[in-house]
Amino acid sequence: AALVTVLFHLGEMATATQSLDEDAFGVLGAELGYDIRVVSPEEEERELFSSFNIDLDAETEAETDEDLEARPPVVTVMGHVDHGKTRLLDAIRKADVGESETGGITQHIGAYQVHTHHEGADRPITFIDTPGHEAFTAMRARGAKVTDIAILVVAANDGVMPQTIEALNHAQAADVPIVVAVNKIDVDGANPQKVRQQLTEYNLIAEEYGGETMFVDVSAKNDQNIDTLLEAVLLTADAALDLRANPNKDARGVAIEANLDRGRGPVATVLVQQGTLTVGDAIVAGSAHGRVRAMLDEHGNNVQEATPSRPVQVLGLASVPRAGDTFLVAPDDRTARQIAEKREGADRQASLAKARKRISLESLNEALAAGKVDTLNLILKGDVSGSVEALEDALLQIDVGEEVGLRIIDRGVGAITLNNINLAAASDAIILGYNVRAEGQNADVAEREGVEIRYYGVIYQAIEDIEDALKGMLKPEY
Ligand code: GDP
Repeated sequence: AALVTVLFHLGEMATATQSLDEDAFGVLGAELGYDIRVVSPEEEERELFSSFNIDLDAETEAETDEDLEARPPVVTVMGHVDHGKTRLLDAIRKADVGESETGGITQHIGAYQVHTHHEGADRPITFIDTPGHEAFTAMRARGAKVTDIAILVVAANDGVMPQTIEALNHAQAADVPIVVAVNKIDVDGANPQKVRQQLTEYNLIAEEYGGETMFVDVSAKNDQNIDTLLEAVLLTADAALDLRANPNKDARGVAIEANLDRGRGPVATVLVQQGTLTVGDAIVAGSAHGRVRAMLDEHGNNVQEATPSRPVQVLGLASVPRAGDTFLVAPDDRTARQIAEKREGADRQASLAKARKRISLESLNEALAAGKVDTLNLILKGDVSGSVEALEDALLQIDVGEEVGLRIIDRGVGAITLNNINLAAASDAIILGYNVRAEGQNADVAEREGVEIRYYGVIYQAIEDIEDALKGMLKPEY
């Protein structure tokens, strides 16, 4: 409240819960006798590491083509509930041609790798073992990009359902290529062609219809066509992505799952994204740190080294990191601990007053002018489907000019959910609520994450606001 008063005297209107823009912080700082600088989370991270003489970019910048080697694609399975995501992940696990050699029953550690033979070469693929787009988007909201390709599972007897659309929106918003697994083709009444046809509406056009998306008919129950599905993943990866990483340096990656094990202490499954993780390395993962005491693969076997795209369980951390935390190898134990401690301090501050500033309609024009964004991403929620469609149609008719794009990355009927907010945070989107609201805790999360939600009861008001924002005329709301 004291800050609000100071700001008021400076001629800035503010409420106690509003986050301030950079200029307001600067003015406020000057008034209070401080020099205030606003830094992005990435810059903050870079500064933290450089204070320990670690230059996060130097290695990457110095890398040449020769340093980079092909790495396996990392795949997430998404789709509507009960369409067979879990069963498909099981069938894929069984299809591992290396299974008999590696031995042992696959355990759930959060991710696993299968080995396939493709055009004479051994081609592993990494699967994230948590089905669904919720985990995917929650991780992305925290800045972690884990998935290279999404398998969208659609049951052929049920067709496209609400979560199918949600899942494909999330994948498309993240620019992740999709392979469609049309599942349950063994069931009476299965209609795989209908699924293809339904998905054309969402820009997923099957290759056989002249599009670019691979569709594979499978039965997870009968282990049918799983090989073809894996092949489609590899073909899509080869066609659309350049998946290479330098294995010859200290490892970096993401923690995808972690828990406190009674016998073994903190256990974290990490996905190595660059470099090689080796037993004995000192690591920092989020605000957890430690020395890698042992690493286990998905068969429970000890491994000494993990190369890019390899998921491993790591033992030896002093505390439990969070899913989506990035990890990296530090020069020594002491540095690892100090970085972790600093991060923990920063985390605590951040949760007190999250200065994370995401896009808002008011700041849009400035952000556009500064070249920080070139597209306005919107998520539409309404009370009935007719109003959502009407709103979408009207929005798409706005003349946004040449330089700016307007993209509706998700739409739906009903209250604003945590999922909507996560997607907005991950994609820098604004949510428009038409006769619906974010209820209870969800509103708090949106506030904390800096996601703007605008509420409307009449369509033209929403259209006018978006138009004005694009033209830089929107008056701040008090
Ligand atoms: P999830 O919610 O998407 O993870 O779906 P599940 O994998 O749990 O599958 C839901 C139900 O569908 C289970 O009873 C599965 O056994 C069944 N199921 C999954 N795949 C197939 C399939 O290919 N054919 C048939 N007939 N049933 C399947």
